[in-house]
Amino acid sequence: MSTSSRKEKFRKWYGEVVDKLGYRFSRDEELVEFLLEQEVQIEKKYGSPYCPCQAIIGDRARDMKIVCPCIPFHREQFDKMKRCWCGLFVRKDVPEHEESSLQQIP
Ligand code: SF4
Repeated sequence: MSTSSRKEKFRKWYGEVVDKLGYRFSRDEELVEFLLEQEVQIEKKYGSPYCPCQAIIGDRARDMKIVCPCIPFHREQFDKMKRCWCGLFVRKDVPEHEESSLQQIP
């Protein structure tokens, strides 16, 4: 499957999953395209679309918690940040004018 087809698959599947979790894709389309592209490359290399922003450590149980979308495993933190760690997904209740000011909270 081509990279662009795989990206579109991720886009459709992720959209359905995160919608049920109260999230949506970022409005920053350039960021979304970049991160989906990274995930396709990571999947080709490691077999799963691990998070482009979190390190794979080689511990399967822990690494499965950073397969995208990892929201269920980091729910409390992401709900506070109103976005996921990479910013690929944003909480649905975030108004457009606030989205670009959301930050990572370690
Ligand atoms: S932080 Fe965001 S982009 Fe990274 S795996 Fe989690 S949901 Fe996906």
